[in-house]
Amino acid sequence: MKFKVPRGTQDILPAESWKWQKVEQLIRETCEVYRYSEIRTPMFEQTELFQRAVGDTTDIVSKEMYTFKDRGDRSMTLRPEGTAPVVRSFIEHKMFGWVDQPVKLYYIQPMFRYERQQAGRYRQFVQFGTEAIGSADPAIDAEVISLALEVYKRAGLKDIKLVLNSLGDKESRIAHRDALVAHFTPHIDEFCTDCQNRLEKNPLRILDCKVDHEHPLMKTAPSLTDYLNDESRAYFEALKTLLTKSGITYELDPNLVRGLDYYNHTAFEIMSTAEGFGAITTLCGGGRYNGLSEEMGGPSAPGIGFGMSIERLLLALEAEQVPLTNDDALDVYVVTLGEAAKKEGFQVLQQLRSAGIRADMDYLDRKMKAQMKSADRLQSKWVTVIGEEEVEQQIVQLKNMKEGTQQSVTIPELIELIKG
Ligand code: ATP
Ligand code: MG
Repeated sequence: MKFKVPRGTQDILPAESWKWQKVEQLIRETCEVYRYSEIRTPMFEQTELFQRAVGDTTDIVSKEMYTFKDRGDRSMTLRPEGTAPVVRSFIEHKMFGWVDQPVKLYYIQPMFRYERQQAGRYRQFVQFGTEAIGSADPAIDAEVISLALEVYKRAGLKDIKLVLNSLGDKESRIAHRDALVAHFTPHIDEFCTDCQNRLEKNPLRILDCKVDHEHPLMKTAPSLTDYLNDESRAYFEALKTLLTKSGITYELDPNLVRGLDYYNHTAFEIMSTAEGFGAITTLCGGGRYNGLSEEMGGPSAPGIGFGMSIERLLLALEAEQVPLTNDDALDVYVVTLGEAAKKEGFQVLQQLRSAGIRADMDYLDRKMKAQMKSADRLQSKWVTVIGEEEVEQQIVQLKNMKEGTQQSVTIPELIELIKG
């Protein structure tokens, strides 16, 4: 019997894992600069949390969740997205009472969605996301957008664009909803069954349909922009002004509705414009979710956030051919000749490591030449050679691989020299 990695998941091997570490590191640094702190929530939650927060008519809840009964007969779901768990935690830990408001959080965590596998779409993927909860100031929207862009910029991406829309407040959305129902109802039998269900439950979702997106009625659908009330319009204008003043350019897309029910006012996506990036060009999606906290039994706490997968960020780096640099060269390779030297070599190795020096040795009793080859392959800056004589005299031969020089040194001298 042969086992394989489950469909839609991947093993991240050493040739790739260092890239993940680099990207995660630059994300953490950026979050620190913006004063966002990390939160880690469980890998699974009560199923109802996502049904309630994300919405029954969304793709995530209706088709993509990994839901199972635990042994206590409770329905649990592997986390498909990050906002609902964070808002749950915000309420549960009464973060609304913390002195510093808004509460600014970020996470880098795996998400699980049962999706059709294709480039850039996995069943387990890692999302970096932020949530700023407790302020309805458009400046915090601008901050969150700017943070997402900053991560891509620091990673070295150039071919990206920000796409922006406003979904308005509740009042605006109700007015728009009525207009949508009037627009689609006469021709709803030409749409997929999902859309037919959406018409009643949540007609806005029709605009996000992946099956019917070419239908002519999509292009002529009433635009949310035309239904924004004064307050929503003013909010959107304020955000646009803040972005423009910070030198952030954007494109407006009145059909950008995003895949989650809880969004209102600001909705945005960051896309890759790199040639050959593939069919899925969205790198990051986010928006405002005023009212979600109340919906989940908490106090009023307006929030905004985004999610981006590390997988798509790495794909974008590849598409733009941005090199990441890897400084994993070894400091010292310990070459040993014979049994006694090997024992001694192992002790030297441990001392080097205790001093914080990156060191390794041979564990296959290979000949000197093969050991030197390993040292080369690992780009070791130094090699120490230990034979019988060296063991007796308590010294090592130290070679500088770049300069080709060699000298005899004691172990304390060795550590001094390498630490420079
Ligand atoms: P899509 O329209 O591509 O399905 P979505 O609306 O489901 O996107 P969100 O739930 O907003 O996406 O997730 C935000 C980000 O998470 C996406 O922009 C993308 O970077 C990433 N993402 C979402 N689903 C996947 C997946 N299956 N594999 C890898 N990354 C994903
Ligand atoms: Mg999706």
